[in-house]
Amino acid sequence: MTYDSIIAGAGFAGAVTARVLAEAGRRVLVLEQRPHVGGNAFDCLDESGILIHQYGPHIFHTNDKTVFDFLSRFTVWRTYEHEVVANLPAENGRMELPVPFNLASLRLAFGPERSAQLQEKLISAYGAGTKVTILQLREATDPALSDLAQYVYDHIFVRYTMKQWGQTPEEIDPAVTARVPVFLSEDCRYFQDTYQGMPLHGYTALFENMLRHDNVDLRLNTDAREHLRFENGTILLDGAEFTGDVIYSGPADELFGCCFGRLPYRTLDFKFETFPADVVQSHGTVNYTMDEDYTRITEFKHLTGQVRPGVTTTVKEYSRAYTGADGEIPYYAIANADTAALYAKYAEKAAQFPRLHLLGRLAEYRYYNMDAIVAGALALSRKLIGESAC
Ligand code: FAD
Ligand code: UDP
Repeated sequence: MTYDSIIAGAGFAGAVTARVLAEAGRRVLVLEQRPHVGGNAFDCLDESGILIHQYGPHIFHTNDKTVFDFLSRFTVWRTYEHEVVANLPAENGRMELPVPFNLASLRLAFGPERSAQLQEKLISAYGAGTKVTILQLREATDPALSDLAQYVYDHIFVRYTMKQWGQTPEEIDPAVTARVPVFLSEDCRYFQDTYQGMPLHGYTALFENMLRHDNVDLRLNTDAREHLRFENGTILLDGAEFTGDVIYSGPADELFGCCFGRLPYRTLDFKFETFPADVVQSHGTVNYTMDEDYTRITEFKHLTGQVRPGVTTTVKEYSRAYTGADGEIPYYAIANADTAALYAKYAEKAAQFPRLHLLGRLAEYRYYNMDAIVAGALALSRKLIGESAC
């Protein structure tokens, strides 16, 4: 069999690209090192029959109609709008505050009178409906707002961020905490995007539908690095020159043997627990923002809408530094000036091979949501087949 294009990875980056190229008549070989498709969005039934997300909870949301329409060819959707609460110690036990911290959180934290005063100050300073990052709020000069900023920082951000990144909100890229702003609104949803939901039959089924095409061959349990070599501007596939496009969605440093040094990542340990109950927590995800050593607990039935009485499964997430040890998965790129400079060296090396394309959250070393990956994959694959992306 001869191929026009080779794709490493069957997550969103690889699968979307494979589909577009295949529909344009290209013969595509997809190499995936895991025993399944879907990348980190993979889901499956656990031993008790609960649909779980093996690599952590994934909720689809986008404002990009093109992305939504493309994926809708391969799934129908369950309408689902994610809500998150922070679970933290309170005077009489524990309390739950909506996250992003919003006007409802303000009332729960400060009671009706004080929250009314704070709300008025917030809205006159920033405007109703505004999203203010915690770092912006920390710059407030009004003493009452400055105290509020300290409260939100202490109760929602600093310890969660330390657990997740091993660094304070000031030390990490401000774009990270800006993902979860203080929201001057009664809207308790985690995302405000136009399109939100879960694939009705799961992500894995979506991927299987997307990759089911006569022009796509999929090889699971196959590390692309064992078949591809990059030498003097030439790409070799199993020792023979390959002149087609190669789309690589794994880590850029590992593709080149970490020759300039390792790019740092955060990895996660997941602890799945099954309980003999219909449901065990109030919301899809509960963040532990002040204590505990895990960051959050997600209960899948809230997300998937699965009806299965008397049994439910949750997952706890524990974050730590990625070391590159066997079996560890790099989940989060760590954006800063040093890592940008190091990544640039790998990007420059990749650019020596004009038909090699680094695509995806790992290959581009970016903190992308699923929709951004799909948008990037559509843009690249349409460029490769010579079709306008708009
Ligand atoms: P991946 O999904 O990582 O896929 C890359 C694939 O390439 C993997 O299957 C990997 O095995 C394979 N691969 C790597 N190297 C090789 C190689 N050498 N040979 C062969 N195969 C290889 N986004 C959202 O929009 N909403 C969410 O709620 C959300 N929740 C998330 C929760 C967690 C815990 C994490 C970590 C991410 C979350 N994301 C979420 C982000 C989402 O996972 C990514 O945007 C998306 O999975 C990226 O797709 P990708 O194809 O770039 O990478
Ligand atoms: N964050 C926080 N407390 C929260 C939620 C988020 O401090 O209760 C910060 C933390 O630094 C986190 C970032 O905001 O890494 C982005 O959160 P998000 O939920 O978007 O992270 P993801 O779902 O991608 O892990």
